[in-house]
Amino acid sequence: MADDRPDARPLSPSTVAVTAGRPRHEADQPLNHPITMASTFVGGGEREYGRSGNPTWEAFEDVLGRLEGGRALAFSSGLAAVSTVLDLMGQGALVVAPDAAYQGSLAQIADLELRGRLVSRLVDIADTDAVLAALDEDVALVWVESPTNPNLDVADLERICTRAHEVGAYVVVDNTFATPLLQQPITAGADIVVHSATKYLSGHSDVLLGALVTADEQLYPVLRQRRELQGSTPGTLEAWLATRGLRTLHLRVERAQANAMELARRLDEHPAVARVRYPGFGCIVSIELAAGPLAADLLTRKTRLWVFATSLGGVESTLERRRRWKGESQHVSEALVRLSVGVEDVEDLWADLGAALDGLVEVVTDRG
Ligand code: PLP
Repeated sequence: MADDRPDARPLSPSTVAVTAGRPRHEADQPLNHPITMASTFVGGGEREYGRSGNPTWEAFEDVLGRLEGGRALAFSSGLAAVSTVLDLMGQGALVVAPDAAYQGSLAQIADLELRGRLVSRLVDIADTDAVLAALDEDVALVWVESPTNPNLDVADLERICTRAHEVGAYVVVDNTFATPLLQQPITAGADIVVHSATKYLSGHSDVLLGALVTADEQLYPVLRQRRELQGSTPGTLEAWLATRGLRTLHLRVERAQANAMELARRLDEHPAVARVRYPGFGCIVSIELAAGPLAADLLTRKTRLWVFATSLGGVESTLERRRRWKGESQHVSEALVRLSVGVEDVEDLWADLGAALDGLVEVVTDRG
């Protein structure tokens, strides 16, 4: 890192994103860590074998850990990180989780429940009183996602963490949508932060990667050992690309968030849109089409700049109707289209999206 003097004032997140995870400033050192392709290392050190560590992963982990306020571990995907946490739960553990959140995380919980490994208690994560009421001494883990995918519900992290710790439960927060720039769950009291680094952290729709972050010195080696045992380790090229993505995280999030705010405002006034879901921050806007699911599908085929594609968090704007996936929660409207707002010019984005929406109003009006 450029400035690691202990008495230096704390660096801002933008500076951390650019300067952390780099080789020391010494003559002939490269500015970036190279891609270290290695299945094994000369013995007697800390890494030994390629499944336990790699300097290219560690560069990514250094940047993310500093941004989140803990120590990070990279995984082969977001879902590999999710399963590593759930796998730590003892037989029959009670897990409180959102009734609507990323479908893959909920599917893992449901699958473990079906096989008798754990018991789930599903709650509306934005209804803090309901969440607190669900937290009793039997609860082992509280799974939080905020804002949620794709309803964009926001949880009260501090109150949930305080109560969870009173009853002796761990709190895990999936911070994929907010990124550490907009929300730092560890500061709010979370024990573990989950990321699909596939999304904003990498930022260019070319990488699958996950991460866990914890400030708990006892949890860190446990998570690290699970990664090694399960073999859910990241690809070296992926970790390198994600580190490169992190260098511009602040610029991308700032621009995409400004675009999202402006689009949410305009969408709110469009007659084809029955409801705009936007929590007031972040780069995702979900809309519910007044004319229903068919109109929602039609919208995703009519735009030209916006790409019809799943996933999110890239520099390019994408959209999809979430209920086209069988596994999506029943709590998500059939007419909901999730917009992942990119960093293009907002007027170009609006011209494309607005024209596609205008077309839908005409279709609906023609049909009477
Ligand atoms: N968490 C959230 C909020 C997600 O949106 C996703 C993927 O869409 C994941 C976790 C899973 O991440 P990955 O696709 O990297 O396995």
